[in-house]
Amino acid sequence: MTLAQAFAPLVDLVYPPRCPACGEAIAAQDGLCGQCWSDLATPGEPACARCQRPFGNAAIGEGALCAPCLAEPPRHDGIAAATLYNAASRKLVLAFKHGRRIALAPMLARLIAARLPAMDGEWLVVPVPLHPLRLWHRGFNQSALLAREIVRLRGATLVVDGLVRRKRTPVLGGLGKAARARALSGAIAVRPRCRSRFSGARVVLVDDVMTSGATSDACVGALKRAGAANVLVGCFARVLDEAL
Ligand SMILES: [Zn+2]
Ligand SMILES: [Zn+2]
Repeated sequence: MTLAQAFAPLVDLVYPPRCPACGEAIAAQDGLCGQCWSDLATPGEPACARCQRPFGNAAIGEGALCAPCLAEPPRHDGIAAATLYNAASRKLVLAFKHGRRIALAPMLARLIAARLPAMDGEWLVVPVPLHPLRLWHRGFNQSALLAREIVRLRGATLVVDGLVRRKRTPVLGGLGKAARARALSGAIAVRPRCRSRFSGARVVLVDDVMTSGATSDACVGALKRAGAANVLVGCFARVLDEAL
């Protein structure tokens, strides 16, 4: 029994457990209410062979690629998303990132880890970096918290500062594809002293929310330039909005 388990009844008495997404009373400190669990959307099959974008109910053959992947083959080697971004996952992300409910990290990470393929042999896990100023404001890098938990669950090697953000980027939402690429140009790099570790490495890049994919793509690009052989993106919520 861990210390946390020993004290759980006491903690529950003082702070009755509430669902972090909706505030409903729940039985245990570390879960969601039944409604919020069922409101989370898991990416289904069939899905794009390259990026795992679900095709809905369409009858699609094995190995088929989605339109974005056909138009421009991505640099990553697959996306493991715990959920599709919707009202339920949004509430969890807001509570985690902006509501500072960092105790949600183990649960969110468990859902990501469940979507990752078998990671035999040596794998490195690297979080999407925050700019130092943003890190200073927030006090934590939410992706780094998730990465640490994934390593705990899957037994890979954490390289928590493997990537650095060299310049601040504006909020990318609402920018077109070209503007996003310009904003991110040169913004993310492999930390020089970590460079040799990525040569030939298999890497899981961890992000909390994957929106347009521009930020994670910049990270994947930096890792591949450093010689990474394989980069999977693991995220909690993936935004699937063709308008982005
Ligand atoms: Zn709930
Ligand atoms: Zn695809």
